[in-house]
Parts: sequence; C-alpha cells; structure tokens
Amino acid sequence: PKNQSVALIIGVTGIVGNSLAEILPLSDTPGGPWKVYGMARRPRPNWNADHPIEYIQCDISDPEQTVSKLSNLNDVTHLFYVTWANKETEKENCETNGKMFKNVLDVVIPNCGKLQHISLQTGRKHYMGPFELFGKVAHDTPFHEELPRLDVSNFYYTLEDILFEGVKQKEGLTWSVHRPGAIFGFSPYSMMNIIGSLCVYATICKHEGVPFKFPGIKEAWENYSDSSDADLIAEQHIWAAVEPYAKNEAFNISNGDVFKWKHFWKVLSEQFEVENGGFDESVGKMSMVEMMKDKAAVWDEIVREKGLVPTKLEDVGLWWFVDMVLGTECMLDTMNKSKEHGFLGFRNSKSSLISWIDKMKGYKFVP
Ligand code: NDP
Repeated sequence: PKNQSVALIIGVTGIVGNSLAEILPLSDTPGGPWKVYGMARRPRPNWNADHPIEYIQCDISDPEQTVSKLSNLNDVTHLFYVTWANKETEKENCETNGKMFKNVLDVVIPNCGKLQHISLQTGRKHYMGPFELFGKVAHDTPFHEELPRLDVSNFYYTLEDILFEGVKQKEGLTWSVHRPGAIFGFSPYSMMNIIGSLCVYATICKHEGVPFKFPGIKEAWENYSDSSDADLIAEQHIWAAVEPYAKNEAFNISNGDVFKWKHFWKVLSEQFEVENGGFDESVGKMSMVEMMKDKAAVWDEIVREKGLVPTKLEDVGLWWFVDMVLGTECMLDTMNKSKEHGFLGFRNSKSSLISWIDKMKGYKFVP
C-alpha cells in the first residue's frame, strides 16, 4: 500500500526492540499495516527470527557502515531508537551514544522523504543522574516529566539535544521520548535484563542445592518497587508514533502498580523450585558480581545437562545490573502525564514477571 507506515527499529534484538518487532507487524497494531526494518550488530538470532521484519546487521557506531546499510532505506516513516552503549564514564557515554544516534539521524533524516516521527527511549536516570552518581543528585520522588534537568552530564540529555536538533531539519517531523524504569522483558542480548539475570541466578542456586538468597539491600527487599514491562513500553512508543496529542513530548513509562521484592522473590523461588533464602539481615547486601565470578563453567554444565539454548553466562547473567537494581531503593515515577495525554496502558507487575519467566523457559534459556 502507498501510505503504509514503515518502521525502523534500531536495537531490534534488545529488551524493547524485540517487543517492538513482535507487536508492530500485528494486524491490529495502531497506525498499521506496518512494514518493519530492524537493526542490530550481531547476526539475527533464532528467537527473533519469527517476527515478519527485514533484519539488517549494522554497527551504528561506525559511520561508514551506517551510511552504507541505511542509505537505501528511503521509505521509513517512523524511527524507533532503542539501543545504547555502556561505557566506563558518563563522559564517554555522552560521546559514544551521541555519535551513534547522530550517525543514524544523519542518514535517515535527509534520505527518508516521508519520515514523520522519531521515538527515542531513554530512562529514569533522567531524574536520578548517571550510575556513577546514584544516590547523590536525584530529584525528589515521584518523578514527573516537568522536572528540570539535573546539573550533571547525562547521555540521555545528549540524546535529547541531538533529537531536538534533528527534527528541526525537516518540516513537520515530530518526536517523543520514553523514560522507563527497570524493564521486565525477555531479550538474552540485552545489556540490562533484571528478570533474565535473576532466572539464571535461581537456576544456578537450584543446581548447586543452595538457597536462593536476595543479594540486595533491606530497602529494596521491603519497600515499594516498580517496573516497566517491555511490551507496555513498546505500546507507548507506538501510541506516541501515531497519536497527534502525544507529539513532541517526553513520557514516563512504568506499569502503574507497585510491588515488593520480598513477594517477587517467593514467585521466583517457586518458578525455579529452589529454596527461598530471602534477605539475611545479618549478612546485608551481597555482591552478585563476586558471587558469580567463578560460575561460567557451572552455567555451561547446566546448559548441557538441561539441553538449553547455548548461552554464555556473561551474556545472560548481568550481575553488575542486579547489584545496581537490588542495591538501591527504587525511586518511583508518576504516569499522570502519560494518562492525561491518553495513554492508559498498564501491566500487573506480578503477571508480567511470570509471563517473562515463562517466555525464558519456553525458549529454553532456563530450565
Ligand atoms: P538493550 O541493551 O536491551 O538492547 C540493545 C540493542 O541494540 C540490541 O539489539 C543490540 O544488539 C543493539 N545494539 C547495541 N549496540 C549497537 C550498535 N553499535 N549498532 C547497532 N545495534 C546495536 O537496550 P535497552 O532497551 O535496554 O536500552 C535502550 C534504552 O533504554 C537505553 O538508553 C537504556 O539506558 C534505557 N533503559 C533500559 C532499562 C533496562 O532495564 N534495560 C531500564 C531503563 C532504561 P547487538 O548487541 O547485537 O548489536
């Protein structure tokens, strides 16, 4: 069809990219029918291959490669940017992530005459500051979109500024920014996947016959946390891409409920039939990075024994991220702005947790 919507997903095998690749091609998705291109560096994995999209392998940190792989895609109407690079310092994060985003926009904006909208995913660190400043500079909660930027460098601000410059180059081109908290989703290629990592941790505890202990702090165990379901985030991206009232705005995106890790730890323990070790106050916070540093061979053995899809522990057990999420008290946001603009989507976080565990098991990443 002539006026078809054409999506380009940058980071199509990521935790939200994979959800976008699944949802966009469905016949009842708003703005459809969608033709979909999806891009990532590695070859297309099996678990992404069922989605009816055109897969393009490209490293967007390489400007020449980006030009050569993207310049023949002239029909893109909507760009979904759901990727990032994780560097040592925030200064490097700003440089590298800025370059990657700019490499894409420099090709797509001049080449795609029908480009209408750019949807950028950042996150709640917009209000909390970068990882290296956690606990030091955050705004007061609940976080809302009208809060001013913090006076520290943050690659999310760099990306927004590149976005705002980019859309000026083309009359009528619109943007949206999406800010999730910790994402519950599926991708084994994600750089930050809390549920996937916890599934792997529970599996290792079960295999070794030791209790599944909560490695975080008391505040994370007992106080309210929230999460952002990957499919729900994808739904908000798509809503903003097609809904006129959502244009040129930033939106928080979280499930709309709260939970306690002490309750979800019981769910995880039951799902993996492992003894619930709970939170040990006399021990306090443990380091997952330390606990898991010699477990690569154990994971290989589990993969062999249980006939799992081959993965490396370093790819599926993102221990620094578990230490980060469970080692800090969750800071909540508000979904008021999103709802006031007409996005009423929500998730039950417990159902979300169970559904992603089921998917991990279904695809044989965990037993
Ligand atoms: P993921 O880490 O889940 O996925 C990244 C995707 O991008 C993968 O498909 C990856 O595949 C691809 N990719 C990585 N580098 C390149 C590159 N140089 N060229 C082309 N493709 C590349 O992404 P997220 O959804 O987690 O991250 C998007 C944004 O969301 C980030 O700003 C992040 O900070 C934010 N966020 C994430 C949270 C989470 O819990 N995950 C929480 C809150 C915010 P491949 O490696 O094969 O290239």
